[in-house]
Amino acid sequence: KTVFVSGATGFIAKYIIKLLLDQNYKVIGSVRSEEKGQEVLADFDHNANLSIEIVKDLASLTAFDEVFKKHGKDIQIVLHTASPVTFQVDDVEKDILIPAVNGVKSILNAILQFAPQTVERFVLTSSLAAQINPLAPDSKDKIITEKSWNDATWEGCQTDSMSAYAGSKTFAEKAAWDFMKEHGNEVKMKMSAVLPSFVFGPQLKMDFSSGHLRSSMEFINSIINGKLPPPMFSAGAFIDVRDVAKAELAAFQKDECIGKRLALESDMYTVQDILDYIHKNFPELAKIVQVGKPGSRDEALKNSFKFNNDETKKVLGFQFIPLETTLHDSLKQIDDAKKN
Ligand code: NDP
Repeated sequence: KTVFVSGATGFIAKYIIKLLLDQNYKVIGSVRSEEKGQEVLADFDHNANLSIEIVKDLASLTAFDEVFKKHGKDIQIVLHTASPVTFQVDDVEKDILIPAVNGVKSILNAILQFAPQTVERFVLTSSLAAQINPLAPDSKDKIITEKSWNDATWEGCQTDSMSAYAGSKTFAEKAAWDFMKEHGNEVKMKMSAVLPSFVFGPQLKMDFSSGHLRSSMEFINSIINGKLPPPMFSAGAFIDVRDVAKAELAAFQKDECIGKRLALESDMYTVQDILDYIHKNFPELAKIVQVGKPGSRDEALKNSFKFNNDETKKVLGFQFIPLETTLHDSLKQIDDAKKN
Protein backbone atom coordinates (compact mmCIF):
# COMPACT_ATOMS: atom_id res chain seq x y z
CA LYS A 1 0.00 0.00 0.00
CA THR A 2 1.05 3.61 -0.49
CA VAL A 3 0.99 6.17 2.31
CA PHE A 4 1.13 9.93 1.81
CA VAL A 5 2.80 11.80 4.70
CA SER A 6 2.58 15.60 4.69
CA GLY A 7 5.41 17.50 6.38
CA ALA A 8 8.08 14.85 5.80
CA THR A 9 10.84 16.99 7.33
CA GLY A 10 9.16 16.97 10.74
CA PHE A 11 10.48 15.63 14.03
CA ILE A 12 7.50 13.28 14.31
CA ALA A 13 7.05 12.62 10.58
CA LYS A 14 10.54 11.18 10.19
CA TYR A 15 9.79 8.46 12.76
CA ILE A 16 6.50 7.75 11.02
CA ILE A 17 8.29 7.38 7.69
CA LYS A 18 10.86 5.10 9.28
CA LEU A 19 8.19 2.76 10.67
CA LEU A 20 6.30 2.78 7.36
CA LEU A 21 9.42 1.86 5.37
CA ASP A 22 10.30 -0.82 7.95
CA GLN A 23 6.85 -2.31 7.32
CA ASN A 24 7.33 -2.20 3.54
CA TYR A 25 4.84 0.52 2.71
CA LYS A 26 5.54 2.82 -0.21
CA VAL A 27 5.75 6.38 1.09
CA ILE A 28 5.21 9.70 -0.64
CA GLY A 29 6.28 12.59 1.58
CA SER A 30 5.57 16.28 1.03
CA VAL A 31 8.08 19.02 1.80
CA ARG A 32 8.24 22.76 1.08
CA SER A 33 11.29 22.84 -1.20
CA GLU A 34 13.47 20.73 -3.44
CA GLU A 35 16.39 21.15 -1.06
CA LYS A 36 14.42 19.86 1.92
CA GLY A 37 13.25 16.95 -0.21
CA GLN A 38 16.83 15.96 -0.96
CA GLU A 39 17.63 16.08 2.77
CA VAL A 40 14.75 13.77 3.60
CA LEU A 41 15.72 11.32 0.86
CA ALA A 42 19.29 11.31 2.17
CA ASP A 43 18.03 10.69 5.74
CA PHE A 44 16.52 7.45 4.46
CA ASP A 45 19.52 6.48 2.33
CA HIS A 46 17.49 7.03 -0.85
CA ASN A 47 15.21 4.11 -0.02
CA ALA A 48 13.47 3.09 -3.25
CA ASN A 49 10.08 3.01 -1.52
CA LEU A 50 10.28 6.70 -0.58
CA SER A 51 9.55 9.57 -2.93
CA ILE A 52 9.03 13.27 -2.33
CA GLU A 53 6.62 15.88 -3.68
CA ILE A 54 6.74 19.61 -3.14
CA VAL A 55 3.80 21.34 -1.45
CA LYS A 56 4.94 24.90 -0.94
CA ASP A 57 2.31 26.59 1.14
CA LEU A 58 -0.27 25.05 3.42
CA ALA A 59 -2.19 28.32 3.49
CA SER A 60 -3.35 27.83 -0.10
CA LEU A 61 -6.71 26.09 -0.32
CA THR A 62 -5.48 24.22 -3.40
CA ALA A 63 -2.10 23.30 -1.88
CA PHE A 64 -2.52 19.54 -2.33
CA ASP A 65 -4.39 19.49 -5.66
CA GLU A 66 -1.38 18.82 -7.85
CA VAL A 67 -0.10 15.96 -5.69
CA PHE A 68 -3.46 14.21 -5.57
CA LYS A 69 -4.10 14.84 -9.25
CA LYS A 70 -0.82 13.06 -9.94
CA HIS A 71 -0.80 10.31 -7.31
CA GLY A 72 -4.33 10.19 -5.88
CA LYS A 73 -5.19 6.89 -7.53
CA ASP A 74 -2.17 5.19 -5.96
CA ILE A 75 -2.58 6.44 -2.38
CA GLN A 76 -4.58 4.38 0.13
CA ILE A 77 -3.55 6.10 3.35
CA VAL A 78 -3.01 9.78 4.16
CA LEU A 79 -1.22 10.96 7.31
CA HIS A 80 -1.46 14.74 7.64
CA THR A 81 1.23 15.94 10.04
CA ALA A 82 2.26 19.28 8.49
CA SER A 83 1.22 22.31 10.53
CA PRO A 84 3.09 25.35 11.84
CA VAL A 85 4.98 24.57 15.06
CA THR A 86 6.53 28.01 15.36
CA PHE A 87 6.15 30.61 18.03
CA GLN A 88 8.37 33.50 16.86
CA VAL A 89 6.02 34.98 14.30
CA ASP A 90 4.87 38.47 13.33
CA ASP A 91 1.26 37.64 12.62
CA VAL A 92 -0.28 34.67 14.43
CA GLU A 93 -3.32 34.56 12.18
CA LYS A 94 -1.34 34.56 8.94
CA ASP A 95 1.57 32.42 10.12
CA ILE A 96 -0.10 29.90 12.44
CA LEU A 97 -3.91 29.80 12.30
CA ILE A 98 -4.55 30.07 8.56
CA PRO A 99 -1.92 27.55 7.36
CA ALA A 100 -3.00 25.02 10.02
CA VAL A 101 -6.68 25.17 9.12
CA ASN A 102 -6.27 25.60 5.36
CA GLY A 103 -3.76 22.77 5.28
CA VAL A 104 -6.43 20.39 6.61
CA LYS A 105 -9.10 21.76 4.29
CA SER A 106 -6.89 21.61 1.23
CA ILE A 107 -5.70 18.06 1.77
CA LEU A 108 -9.24 16.82 2.42
CA ASN A 109 -10.63 18.66 -0.60
CA ALA A 110 -7.89 17.25 -2.79
CA ILE A 111 -8.84 13.73 -1.65
CA LEU A 112 -12.52 14.47 -2.31
CA GLN A 113 -11.79 15.74 -5.80
CA PHE A 114 -9.06 13.41 -7.00
CA ALA A 115 -9.11 10.25 -4.86
CA PRO A 116 -12.53 9.82 -3.23
CA GLN A 117 -12.65 6.08 -3.77
CA THR A 118 -8.98 5.19 -3.42
CA VAL A 119 -7.94 6.78 -0.12
CA GLU A 120 -9.17 4.45 2.60
CA ARG A 121 -7.86 6.05 5.77
CA PHE A 122 -7.03 9.59 6.89
CA VAL A 123 -5.07 10.26 10.08
CA LEU A 124 -4.77 13.81 11.35
CA THR A 125 -2.00 14.78 13.76
CA SER A 126 -3.83 17.02 16.18
CA SER A 127 -2.63 17.83 19.69
CA LEU A 128 -3.34 17.96 23.40
CA ALA A 129 -3.55 21.68 22.61
CA ALA A 130 -6.87 20.93 20.88
CA GLN A 131 -8.15 19.45 24.17
CA ILE A 132 -7.29 22.21 26.61
CA ASN A 133 -7.00 25.97 26.55
CA PRO A 134 -3.46 26.54 27.85
CA LEU A 135 -4.31 29.87 29.46
CA ALA A 136 -7.69 28.99 30.96
CA PRO A 137 -7.60 29.86 34.66
CA ASP A 138 -9.50 26.73 35.66
CA SER A 139 -7.32 24.29 33.69
CA LYS A 140 -5.72 22.96 36.86
CA ASP A 141 -9.04 21.55 38.02
CA LYS A 142 -9.65 19.72 34.76
CA ILE A 143 -9.31 16.08 33.87
CA ILE A 144 -8.57 15.93 30.16
CA THR A 145 -10.04 12.97 28.27
CA GLU A 146 -10.57 11.97 24.64
CA LYS A 147 -13.79 14.01 24.72
CA SER A 148 -12.21 17.29 25.88
CA TRP A 149 -12.01 20.27 23.57
CA ASN A 150 -10.10 23.54 23.85
CA ASP A 151 -12.81 26.21 24.00
CA ALA A 152 -10.66 28.81 22.19
CA THR A 153 -12.23 31.30 19.81
CA TRP A 154 -10.57 32.46 16.57
CA GLU A 155 -10.23 36.06 17.81
CA GLY A 156 -9.62 35.23 21.46
CA CYS A 157 -6.66 32.92 20.84
CA GLN A 158 -4.64 35.61 19.05
CA THR A 159 -3.26 37.18 22.26
CA ASP A 160 0.02 35.24 22.08
CA SER A 161 1.61 32.63 19.85
CA MET A 162 1.11 29.72 22.28
CA SER A 163 -2.63 30.34 22.50
CA ALA A 164 -2.75 30.83 18.73
CA TYR A 165 -0.94 27.52 18.21
CA ALA A 166 -3.43 25.77 20.51
CA GLY A 167 -6.27 27.46 18.65
CA SER A 168 -4.79 26.43 15.31
CA LYS A 169 -4.76 22.78 16.32
CA THR A 170 -8.32 23.04 17.65
CA PHE A 171 -9.79 24.67 14.55
CA ALA A 172 -7.81 22.39 12.23
CA GLU A 173 -9.10 19.26 13.98
CA LYS A 174 -12.65 20.59 14.03
CA ALA A 175 -12.41 21.35 10.30
CA ALA A 176 -11.47 17.73 9.65
CA TRP A 177 -14.31 16.21 11.68
CA ASP A 178 -16.74 18.70 10.08
CA PHE A 179 -15.53 17.68 6.64
CA MET A 180 -16.19 14.03 7.48
CA LYS A 181 -19.70 14.90 8.67
CA GLU A 182 -20.41 16.78 5.48
CA HIS A 183 -18.66 14.58 2.93
CA GLY A 184 -18.31 11.23 4.71
CA ASN A 185 -20.68 9.53 2.28
CA GLU A 186 -18.88 10.88 -0.81
CA VAL A 187 -15.51 9.39 0.14
CA LYS A 188 -14.32 5.90 0.97
CA MET A 189 -11.93 7.05 3.72
CA LYS A 190 -12.42 6.82 7.45
CA MET A 191 -10.74 9.24 9.80
CA SER A 192 -8.84 9.05 13.09
CA ALA A 193 -7.04 11.81 14.97
CA VAL A 194 -3.84 11.39 16.96
CA LEU A 195 -3.41 13.92 19.77
CA PRO A 196 0.12 13.94 21.15
CA SER A 197 0.93 15.77 24.36
CA PHE A 198 4.38 17.39 24.62
CA VAL A 199 6.64 15.25 22.44
CA PHE A 200 10.09 14.36 23.80
CA GLY A 201 12.61 11.79 22.60
CA PRO A 202 15.65 11.73 20.35
CA GLN A 203 15.63 13.11 16.80
CA LEU A 204 15.68 10.37 14.16
CA LYS A 205 18.77 12.00 12.63
CA MET A 206 20.47 14.44 14.94
CA ASP A 207 21.03 17.80 13.27
CA PHE A 208 22.75 20.24 15.61
CA SER A 209 24.11 22.45 12.84
CA SER A 210 22.02 25.46 13.89
CA GLY A 211 22.64 24.92 17.63
CA HIS A 212 18.88 24.46 17.99
CA LEU A 213 16.80 21.34 17.75
CA ARG A 214 13.59 20.82 15.84
CA SER A 215 10.23 21.38 17.39
CA SER A 216 9.61 20.41 21.02
CA MET A 217 13.09 18.93 21.48
CA GLU A 218 14.36 22.50 21.69
CA PHE A 219 12.51 22.61 25.04
CA ILE A 220 15.05 20.25 26.59
CA ASN A 221 17.93 21.81 24.68
CA SER A 222 17.10 25.28 25.98
CA ILE A 223 17.05 23.94 29.55
CA ILE A 224 20.58 22.66 28.92
CA ASN A 225 21.43 26.17 27.73
CA GLY A 226 20.49 27.48 31.16
CA LYS A 227 17.00 28.76 30.41
CA LEU A 228 13.84 27.87 32.27
CA PRO A 229 10.59 27.61 30.33
CA PRO A 230 7.72 29.96 31.23
CA PRO A 231 5.62 28.88 34.26
CA MET A 232 2.80 27.50 32.11
CA PHE A 233 5.23 24.77 30.96
CA SER A 234 6.59 23.88 34.41
CA ALA A 235 4.39 20.78 34.41
CA GLY A 236 2.44 18.97 31.73
CA ALA A 237 1.87 15.68 29.96
CA PHE A 238 4.41 14.16 27.60
CA ILE A 239 4.75 11.33 25.09
CA ASP A 240 7.83 9.90 23.41
CA VAL A 241 8.15 10.60 19.67
CA ARG A 242 8.58 6.87 18.98
CA ASP A 243 5.19 6.18 20.56
CA VAL A 244 3.58 8.92 18.48
CA ALA A 245 4.82 7.21 15.33
CA LYS A 246 3.51 3.82 16.53
CA ALA A 247 0.13 5.36 17.27
CA GLU A 248 -0.04 6.98 13.82
CA LEU A 249 0.37 3.57 12.21
CA ALA A 250 -2.07 1.89 14.59
CA ALA A 251 -4.57 4.67 13.80
CA PHE A 252 -4.99 3.40 10.25
CA GLN A 253 -4.12 -0.25 10.78
CA LYS A 254 -6.69 -0.94 13.50
CA ASP A 255 -10.39 -0.66 12.77
CA GLU A 256 -11.02 0.12 16.45
CA CYS A 257 -9.34 3.49 15.83
CA ILE A 258 -11.86 4.64 13.23
CA GLY A 259 -13.65 7.81 14.32
CA LYS A 260 -11.50 8.05 17.47
CA ARG A 261 -9.38 10.77 18.99
CA LEU A 262 -6.28 9.00 20.32
CA ALA A 263 -4.93 10.97 23.27
CA LEU A 264 -1.21 10.32 23.68
CA GLU A 265 -0.01 10.93 27.21
CA SER A 266 2.53 8.66 28.83
CA ASP A 267 2.72 10.53 32.12
CA MET A 268 3.12 13.98 33.63
CA TYR A 269 6.53 15.65 33.50
CA THR A 270 7.72 18.61 35.51
CA VAL A 271 10.62 20.85 34.57
CA GLN A 272 12.09 19.94 37.96
CA ASP A 273 12.18 16.27 36.87
CA ILE A 274 14.24 17.33 33.87
CA LEU A 275 16.60 19.49 35.94
CA ASP A 276 17.11 16.70 38.49
CA TYR A 277 17.67 14.10 35.78
CA ILE A 278 20.32 16.18 34.04
CA HIS A 279 22.20 16.93 37.27
CA LYS A 280 22.14 13.31 38.34
CA ASN A 281 22.92 11.58 35.05
CA PHE A 282 24.54 14.03 32.64
CA PRO A 283 27.08 16.11 34.61
CA GLU A 284 28.74 17.25 31.37
CA LEU A 285 25.47 18.80 30.24
CA ALA A 286 24.60 20.16 33.67
CA LYS A 287 27.18 22.95 33.85
CA ILE A 288 24.82 25.89 33.38
CA VAL A 289 21.59 24.05 34.12
CA GLN A 290 19.62 25.58 36.97
CA VAL A 291 19.17 23.53 40.13
CA GLY A 292 15.58 24.65 40.57
CA LYS A 293 13.80 23.44 43.66
CA PRO A 294 14.51 19.72 44.05
CA GLY A 295 11.55 17.86 45.51
CA SER A 296 9.00 20.27 44.05
CA ARG A 297 7.40 17.82 41.59
CA ASP A 298 4.22 17.37 43.64
CA GLU A 299 3.79 21.10 44.09
CA ALA A 300 4.12 21.69 40.33
CA LEU A 301 1.65 18.91 39.59
CA LYS A 302 -0.89 20.33 42.04
CA ASN A 303 -1.24 23.36 39.78
CA SER A 304 -1.52 21.39 36.58
CA PHE A 305 -4.38 19.72 34.70
CA LYS A 306 -4.77 15.92 35.02
CA PHE A 307 -5.51 13.51 32.21
CA ASN A 308 -7.30 10.23 31.70
CA ASN A 309 -6.56 8.47 28.39
CA ASP A 310 -7.56 4.94 29.42
CA GLU A 311 -9.72 4.55 26.34
CA THR A 312 -6.78 5.32 24.02
CA LYS A 313 -4.45 2.97 25.87
CA LYS A 314 -7.01 0.18 25.57
CA VAL A 315 -7.44 0.69 21.83
CA LEU A 316 -3.72 1.03 21.09
CA GLY A 317 -2.74 -1.88 23.32
CA PHE A 318 0.92 -0.99 23.83
CA GLN A 319 2.81 0.51 26.78
CA PHE A 320 4.04 4.08 26.41
CA ILE A 321 7.73 4.83 26.99
CA PRO A 322 8.23 6.22 30.54
CA LEU A 323 9.76 9.61 31.37
CA GLU A 324 13.15 8.27 32.49
CA THR A 325 13.73 6.47 29.18
CA THR A 326 12.59 9.44 27.12
CA LEU A 327 14.84 11.79 29.08
CA HIS A 328 17.76 9.43 28.96
CA ASP A 329 17.56 8.91 25.19
CA SER A 330 16.95 12.61 24.45
CA LEU A 331 19.80 13.79 26.66
CA LYS A 332 22.22 11.10 25.56
CA GLN A 333 21.76 12.18 21.94
CA ILE A 334 22.47 15.82 22.82
CA ASP A 335 25.43 14.82 25.00
CA ASP A 336 26.92 12.70 22.19
CA ALA A 337 26.38 15.49 19.64
CA LYS A 338 28.12 18.01 21.88
CA LYS A 339 31.10 15.68 22.33
CA ASN A 340 31.55 15.25 18.58
P1 NDP B 1 8.10 20.02 13.15
O1 NDP B 1 8.19 21.51 13.17
O2 NDP B 1 9.34 19.24 13.18
O3 NDP B 1 7.22 19.59 11.90
C1 NDP B 1 6.23 20.41 11.32
C2 NDP B 1 6.09 20.06 9.86
O4 NDP B 1 5.10 20.92 9.25
C3 NDP B 1 7.39 20.30 9.07
O5 NDP B 1 7.48 19.36 8.05
C4 NDP B 1 7.18 21.70 8.50
O6 NDP B 1 7.93 21.96 7.33
C5 NDP B 1 5.70 21.63 8.17
N1 NDP B 1 5.11 22.97 8.09
C6 NDP B 1 5.00 23.87 9.09
N2 NDP B 1 4.43 25.00 8.65
C7 NDP B 1 4.16 24.80 7.33
C8 NDP B 1 3.59 25.60 6.31
N3 NDP B 1 3.13 26.83 6.56
N4 NDP B 1 3.52 25.09 5.04
C9 NDP B 1 3.98 23.83 4.79
N5 NDP B 1 4.53 23.03 5.73
C10 NDP B 1 4.61 23.51 6.98
O7 NDP B 1 7.16 19.65 14.38
P2 NDP B 1 6.56 18.24 14.90
O8 NDP B 1 7.13 17.10 14.18
O9 NDP B 1 6.68 18.29 16.36
O10 NDP B 1 5.02 18.44 14.54
C11 NDP B 1 4.31 17.58 13.66
C12 NDP B 1 2.85 17.67 14.00
O11 NDP B 1 2.66 17.22 15.34
C13 NDP B 1 2.26 19.07 13.93
O12 NDP B 1 0.96 18.97 13.39
C14 NDP B 1 2.19 19.49 15.39
O13 NDP B 1 1.19 20.45 15.63
C15 NDP B 1 1.88 18.16 16.06
N6 NDP B 1 2.19 18.09 17.48
C16 NDP B 1 3.49 18.26 17.94
C17 NDP B 1 3.75 18.22 19.30
C18 NDP B 1 5.13 18.39 19.85
O14 NDP B 1 5.29 18.50 21.08
N7 NDP B 1 6.17 18.39 19.04
C19 NDP B 1 2.68 17.98 20.27
C20 NDP B 1 1.40 17.77 19.69
C21 NDP B 1 1.17 17.83 18.34
P3 NDP B 1 9.39 22.67 7.38
O15 NDP B 1 10.38 21.64 7.79
O16 NDP B 1 9.59 23.13 5.98
O17 NDP B 1 9.29 23.79 8.36
